[in-house]
Amino acid sequence: MSARILDGQGLATRIRAELAPRVAEFAARNGRPPGLAIVLVGQNPASEIYVRLKIKAGSEAGLRADLERLPEHASIADVLALVERLNQSKVYDGILVQAPLPKAVGEGAMSRVFDTVAPEKDVDGVTPNSAGRLVQGRPLFVPCTPFGIIELLEREGIQIAGRRACVIGRSEIVGKPMALLLLQRDATVTVCHSRTPDLAAVTREADILVAAVGRAGLVTPAFVKPGATVVDVGINTITDPAVAAGWYPEGHPRLATFRKNGSLLVGDVHPSVADIAGALTPVPGGVGPLTIAMLMTNTLRAGQLAAGST
Ligand code: NAD
Repeated sequence: MSARILDGQGLATRIRAELAPRVAEFAARNGRPPGLAIVLVGQNPASEIYVRLKIKAGSEAGLRADLERLPEHASIADVLALVERLNQSKVYDGILVQAPLPKAVGEGAMSRVFDTVAPEKDVDGVTPNSAGRLVQGRPLFVPCTPFGIIELLEREGIQIAGRRACVIGRSEIVGKPMALLLLQRDATVTVCHSRTPDLAAVTREADILVAAVGRAGLVTPAFVKPGATVVDVGINTITDPAVAAGWYPEGHPRLATFRKNGSLLVGDVHPSVADIAGALTPVPGGVGPLTIAMLMTNTLRAGQLAAGST
């Protein structure tokens, strides 16, 4: 069996195309486009790429999407002052502070940022307000990655209600909200994490398995129930030729890409899982583009809230 590939990139393109006329209508009605401010502290290379993709997608959707940079040595006070300024802005409806913050910003800095972003501008769904509303089943802004995954499952006709779902990872931004969204759609949900014993025995029970860990190839066929839907959230870089050779057979185009670049972007799910899963999201081209599309969706919603329309 070879799993059906769930084309996140294709769906993200459709979502962004659906969004464009709604953004144009907003701009015509309000005399300005919805605005998104992305705060980037320091120069983390991966963050630079993600931020660039978000700004580009925002501009293409007709949003005003701007980057607010702070230097690597910025203090927590600098970060919070910038967020406060953006909270007051009439131009920016949405604020996203790109994680991770540099270590120098200090312990617990991300939580202090979460506490400071105005809930009505929280397009990343990270504030305690957003999290609390999600727990209570009346979300205002859903974190973009799990939001995109639900959109994908629903639009692909994958049944959630009554199924067993397992989420590996319990982060505030992916694992926990993912579990809540599946629960709200009547799945029976298990959350696994770094201290879960015999992980594979738990994940093998799942009809829907979401891997959000950040460990290349953690999920092998032994983790997967035959026919299950497997969603790969992980973004990892492999640089070891021996590891790459264990991922793809000789002659595979991805192996050629690895040899050309000396590295390869891969997920948490080993490609051999395609032999046992019923459906599978690829990396790249799965969850990542959807995350960006849902950020655009949330920003339009924030604009509509600010403008008093829905
Ligand atoms: P995180 O580091 O905050 O959380 C990782 C989770 O994995 C933790 O809850 C931890 O308990 C669990 N974990 C760690 N080792 C484990 C193990 N051996 N077995 C089981 N569980 C284990 O990470 P995050 O922010 O949730 O991101 C997870 C991954 O998803 C990363 O690779 C990240 O880059 C990626 N990500 C992708 C997107 C996207 O748009 N595709 C968005 C966000 C995050």
